[in-house]
Amino acid sequence: MDKDFPILIVDDDVVSRTVVQKYLHKAGFKVIPAFNGKEAIALFDQHFCPIVLTDWMMPELDGPQLCRMIRERETAGYVFIILITSRDSKTDIVSGLEAGADDYLTKPIDRDELVARIKTGIRILKLEQSLKQANEEIRLLSITDPLTGCFNRTFLGDRLSQEIIRAQRYRRPLALIMTDIDHFKQVNDTYGHQAGDLVLKTFANCMVEQVRNQVDWVVRYGGEEFLIVLPETDSAGAGNLAERLRRRIEEMRIQYEQADIRITASFGVSCINLRQKDVSHLTMEQIINQSDEQLYRSKREGRNRVSMLESVP
Ligand code: GH3
Ligand code: MG
Ligand code: MG
Repeated sequence: MDKDFPILIVDDDVVSRTVVQKYLHKAGFKVIPAFNGKEAIALFDQHFCPIVLTDWMMPELDGPQLCRMIRERETAGYVFIILITSRDSKTDIVSGLEAGADDYLTKPIDRDELVARIKTGIRILKLEQSLKQANEEIRLLSITDPLTGCFNRTFLGDRLSQEIIRAQRYRRPLALIMTDIDHFKQVNDTYGHQAGDLVLKTFANCMVEQVRNQVDWVVRYGGEEFLIVLPETDSAGAGNLAERLRRRIEEMRIQYEQADIRITASFGVSCINLRQKDVSHLTMEQIINQSDEQLYRSKREGRNRVSMLESVP
């Protein structure tokens, strides 16, 4: 059945713990036994358990205390807690639920009821998982450009300021490459907008393939303008990469219907080398503007080239 949801069973009474363990094993669950509340919390801290089935009366740390301790923790996901009790008076049940339990079972435990209640818990946990997944998908959509799959400017605003703070704190270099396709309007005019979209996707893929995975990141800054952020990279490194990209783009052949589309791109590099200068005053906008100015120098000087300053003053 559901091995994805291991169950932590806590009971100081060997007989009742063994009985419950057997029931759950037979029903196909993965079970982790704990002999008391203290051991349970130690096990829980080592190995996240999304379902906890705990006895109420235990020495040292009882069921409701264990519930409270679990609820205080920052856990990887929701923990569905079922209290097992021989008490069934209304006040006891209320205090158990107030301690953080989701449900309760009264001794002697009925096998079918036990499994049914665990299944209820799993339904809730699965719902939480699918909500989390949906949230993550929405988050990714909100920071991604739909055409190229590159990051968008929302992401840039958040991440680049973090990269700058990090670079300044640890006095590490950080480089930016701003790039823009040359005469891109002509591609649209000659082959149509769909061909233009294909060119943009191919151009973006080429950059993503060339940069370091999980370290560098590529942002679609405008229509056919992209920004590459290179942490831990000095001006020489960024200049080499820009030149390599420039050549790759120049050599690329993009097939669209019968046409073989060729493009070039211009590049502007800026770099802050914090080991050399005190540049703690630099803002994100200033660093981006530097690479933009260098890009426009490349455009002015004939396109299909890389321009750079040694470091941002
Ligand atoms: P330059 O060398 O000076 O950069 O010239 P350019 O033609 O590349 O620049 P310009 O700014 O004149 O034109 C950019 C064009 O990019 C105009 C715009 O319609 C097109 N564009 C912007 N976004 C998209 C897009 O998502 N898809 C397509 N197909 N075209 C786009
Ligand atoms: Mg007990
Ligand atoms: Mg352009």
